[in-house]
Amino acid sequence: MIAGPCSAETREQVMETAAALAGMNIQLFRAGVWKPRTRPGQFEGNGAAALEWLQEAKAAYNLPMAIEVAEPAHVELALKHNIDVLWVGARTTVNPFQVQHLADALRGVNIPVMVKNPVNTDVDLWLGAIERFEQVGIKDVAAIHRGFSGYGAAGGYRNQPNWPIPIELKRRRPELMMICDPSHITGNRERIAEIAQKAMDMHFEGLMIETHPRPDEAWSDAAQQVTPQKLQEILAGLIVRDEFTSDMSALMQLEYLRQLMDNLDAEIIDLLAKRMELSGKMGEVKRACNMTAYQPGRWREIVETRGERAQLHLLPKEFIVELYEKIHHESIRQQLAILEDNSKVKSENP
Ligand code: PEP
Ligand code: MN
Repeated sequence: MIAGPCSAETREQVMETAAALAGMNIQLFRAGVWKPRTRPGQFEGNGAAALEWLQEAKAAYNLPMAIEVAEPAHVELALKHNIDVLWVGARTTVNPFQVQHLADALRGVNIPVMVKNPVNTDVDLWLGAIERFEQVGIKDVAAIHRGFSGYGAAGGYRNQPNWPIPIELKRRRPELMMICDPSHITGNRERIAEIAQKAMDMHFEGLMIETHPRPDEAWSDAAQQVTPQKLQEILAGLIVRDEFTSDMSALMQLEYLRQLMDNLDAEIIDLLAKRMELSGKMGEVKRACNMTAYQPGRWREIVETRGERAQLHLLPKEFIVELYEKIHHESIRQQLAILEDNSKVKSENP
């Protein structure tokens, strides 16, 4: 559990927050000392002066300290002030040049680094930043999911969660520690608990939650910070689940259901293969009659009829339409190959 203010504003604010968090089950204190602001003219952090306050709070309350670094000079100052953990912000992760500069500054240094997702929905860019730190010998790297930029605030979020992206990162790198930052996802202190619970249900291993003694007076991210008292309530209300259970009867029931599901999945794939076969035959007919592979009217009909059928089963129409977009795309790809040259279909599908 990582908590602390968005920004280290004053010595008093840092000490007061640390004092309140010290009695709670918090493993790491966070505070921004250089703040990446979207537009100029806002509070941009207290820099090196704030590092002194963090050192003082660490000594007084025995709390390890984490800060954001965006430039090699930040790394150097952080190390000089015995900061325990560094994080890379979302607006730095997008830039491989900058990430490499940070990594170079950390070559041969033994300090944990947490990498926030880039603001754009690119899992490779996120993984690439993580790899740059690993390549210079950082052993302890974690990923922080803080949501993704979009135009407007769909769903009322400041940054869209796009859960499939952190899930894909974890699929590729199962050993990577995944931390969720509900503060920057929601931008709204009323919704922190909901996203924190979702993160627990999605098997995240940690949370970073912005905490301020007087959130409304915060110099940055006021709407999303919670008091230490409120943080305590959120944590007390969280249901933390396990990936595994030792309950034998639950395990047997799951095993039974999984076998049924394995069989269904096998049938789904067999059916898809048959569907592709049909689509191949249609490709031959279309080629013979000099017709286009893609026919907008037919695609509209598929969306309509499959969407209606989904609704009969209380399945969301969007889900089935999205699935059919993928299936139809593959059919068209295969038919295009047939239109061009029959032999290509085989070579593209060894
Ligand atoms: C922060 O943690 O305060 C911060 C600036 O985060 P992000 O890089 O996720 O915007
Ligand atoms: Mn913030």
